[in-house]
Amino acid sequence: MIKASFSRRIIVLLVGALGLAQLLTLGAGLGATHRNVRSDLSAGMRVAESVFERLYTARFEQLGQSVRVLAADFGFRRAVASGDAPTMVSALENHAARAGATLAVLVDPDGTVTAATDTAAVLEGAPAWSAIVAEAARQEHVAVSIGIGATAYQLVAVPVLAPEPIAWLFMGFPIDAALAAELREVSGCEVSFVVPGALPRVLASTLAPPHQAALAAALERAPAAQPGDEIELGDGSYLTRHRALGLSGAPVEVLLQKSLSAALAPYYQLAASLAALSAIVLIIASIAGIALARSIIEPLRRLVAAALRIGEGDYAAQVEVASADEVGQLAATFNTMQREIAERERRIVHQAHHDALTGLPNRWLADDRLNGAHSRAQRSRRPFTIAILDLARFKQINDTLGHHVGDTVLQETARRIAARARRSDTVARLGGDDFLIILEHSGLDEAQVFIEALRESLTQPIELAGMRVALDFRIGLACYPDHAADGASLLRRAEIALYDAKDNAKRLVVYKPGRDEGHLRQLAIVGNLPAALADGQLSLHFQPKIDCRSGAFDQAEALVRWVHPRFGFIPPDEFISIIEQSGNIGLLTGWIIDRAVGQCRAWRDEGIDVRISINLSALDLLDIALPQRLADALLRHQVAAHRIVLEITESAVMQDPETALDVLVKLRSTGFRLAIDDFGTGYSSLAQLRRLPVDELKIDKSFILALAPDSEDAAIVRSTIELAHTLGLAVVAEGVETAVGWHTLREFGCDTAQGYLISRPLPVAEFTAWYRAQQRSNDRFPELAA
Ligand code: C2E
Ligand code: CA
Ligand code: CA
Repeated sequence: MIKASFSRRIIVLLVGALGLAQLLTLGAGLGATHRNVRSDLSAGMRVAESVFERLYTARFEQLGQSVRVLAADFGFRRAVASGDAPTMVSALENHAARAGATLAVLVDPDGTVTAATDTAAVLEGAPAWSAIVAEAARQEHVAVSIGIGATAYQLVAVPVLAPEPIAWLFMGFPIDAALAAELREVSGCEVSFVVPGALPRVLASTLAPPHQAALAAALERAPAAQPGDEIELGDGSYLTRHRALGLSGAPVEVLLQKSLSAALAPYYQLAASLAALSAIVLIIASIAGIALARSIIEPLRRLVAAALRIGEGDYAAQVEVASADEVGQLAATFNTMQREIAERERRIVHQAHHDALTGLPNRWLADDRLNGAHSRAQRSRRPFTIAILDLARFKQINDTLGHHVGDTVLQETARRIAARARRSDTVARLGGDDFLIILEHSGLDEAQVFIEALRESLTQPIELAGMRVALDFRIGLACYPDHAADGASLLRRAEIALYDAKDNAKRLVVYKPGRDEGHLRQLAIVGNLPAALADGQLSLHFQPKIDCRSGAFDQAEALVRWVHPRFGFIPPDEFISIIEQSGNIGLLTGWIIDRAVGQCRAWRDEGIDVRISINLSALDLLDIALPQRLADALLRHQVAAHRIVLEITESAVMQDPETALDVLVKLRSTGFRLAIDDFGTGYSSLAQLRRLPVDELKIDKSFILALAPDSEDAAIVRSTIELAHTLGLAVVAEGVETAVGWHTLREFGCDTAQGYLISRPLPVAEFTAWYRAQQRSNDRFPELAA
């Protein structure tokens, strides 16, 4: 399409320009030639005219001599005077023959013809004779051309004197074809004698007969023809000069003509050859044009093909155009452009597939690599292992040291992992503080050894602007084909292992087969929380606590229960950690607070005066809105703050000490009692807990369950109680199941006890009934008696 129109334009332009130039040249040449030929012809004709003039005059003179000789002849004069007709006629005939004249006439002074060589012809023209005689009388002799009958004559007249003119003698040469031929001979022109008028008549002519007729017709059409006019005569155009020869009354004109067409013919022939030559040149030009168009279009076509190819994303092939002209430059530009597009695309693809901060592959590319590793492992029947590393306390680093430090930590971590990884391994950043390592061809054992070593190097503190930032990692591992049959499942299971590592405060957890299903169950549970709360699936149970000295049941711990319509009873340990991970813990805690405080109010109204303990999850302590929420609940239910104990775990405080401490101080100043729950399971010592604004300590049930005076843990429990007391803290022991344990605690000076020995956690109605039963009986607790 492009090709056709483009080459057509080139050819039209080339051939058109050349053709026009040649046409103009030829036209100008022909015009000039025409003008030259014409002026040459008319010059020649002027010469011919003067030649004709001389010849014509010479004939008059010749006639004149003969006429004068005859008129002077005595015998002739006598014959005229005597009226001797036969003698006159024979004398006329003799002299005419001698002079070569065809007509000799004798006319008396009144115009009557007295003798003639051709009587018939002379009589025909008789009416004119008197006028001619009158003219001759004035001029003595005349030399005129006159048409007599069908013929025209060149006449000379002299008087016959005796001594008065007694007659006029005329002698004439015919103006005929012979004269015309003779004139043509000397002038080189066509010569025609015509009688002009309304019906012009050609007397004699050197023209061919049909042209003579044409001439007569042309003269009839344009009688007032001018010298130099062109007259069209059958075989072309004739340049014509007129000249009148005759007397008035019977005028004769001579026309000298030269054929313009004939004169131009050689030039036209030349022009024809030139035109033929031009045609050849044009054909050559067309061929050259086609070749030129091809030479331009072929590279253009290649450029078009290249542009289409580039459009489809193929940047491999170069555009091959060797020429150094503009098209060649365009091709070179094309190649440069193609390189730059490819480079830019490579960059964009890289950016799309890589994490901007660390330069590592991002989650998208990681999925891809994971699938690649999976298919390679399938083919080679070799295992591979993936590890997800989570930087512990990253949020804290970010919040307390600033984002630039956080960024540097991530970059340094990425650098360290990449430095340790083998060529065949993939290291990626999954987002946030999670990194993925794909260890190809590595089974679980090999991978564990590698990851342990890696963890070692990763936990080296990072020096940052004079600070040393200590790093810790949680790692989840999963192995193909033991743990999953495809990449996506493997990744999910490594993530589950990582959650487990976080939950259980372990550093490295290998996926346990079956956990995924449990995880799915967890997800199903969490998704239902708001509905479950509205549905009444959750409730609070209360477990009483006993005052070790007075034996009063003046405290109870609120413990949440969830009976799920599908999963049945779900242990709070399980769902609370899932809800924490899902970010919904605030919702649950708010609900629990409202219920627990509300129950406190309700029991007080019924005369049951118990202080209620509420468990706060670790994340609750980082919620700065918590103090206000609690204060609102107190206000709503009209409960004094000191009637509520808030149980917190030390790990909660350790995650973000500053915020937690802030919240705790606020809570304490509101008047809440604060208790450290699960004491003994964490790492902190009592001395470290001193700076916390707490009122009591709950020794974890793992120390209490099997407590006896001589048991392993007895010493720990005893010293803990003593130390706590010196710090001004009350001590609660939970998990009291046995009477031995109970007595031991009393002996150690423990303040409060809680456990199955006293009561399991009870629903509200049962707690009320249990409590009333205890109040009624005097011997309230036989097992507790010493
Ligand atoms: P915890 O705060 O240490 O709660 C005491 C747990 O020990 C309760 O388990 C209680 O039923 C159990 N227990 C009490 N006496 C004995 C005993 O003599 N022997 C044994 N073997 N166990 C005893 P529960 O109710 O399953 O709660 C487990 C954990 O779930 C709680 O540990 C607490 O961390 C969490 N939890 C329970 N309710 C809530 C709540 O309302 N809010 C929050 N944030 N966490 C809660
Ligand atoms: Ca508790
Ligand atoms: Ca506990």
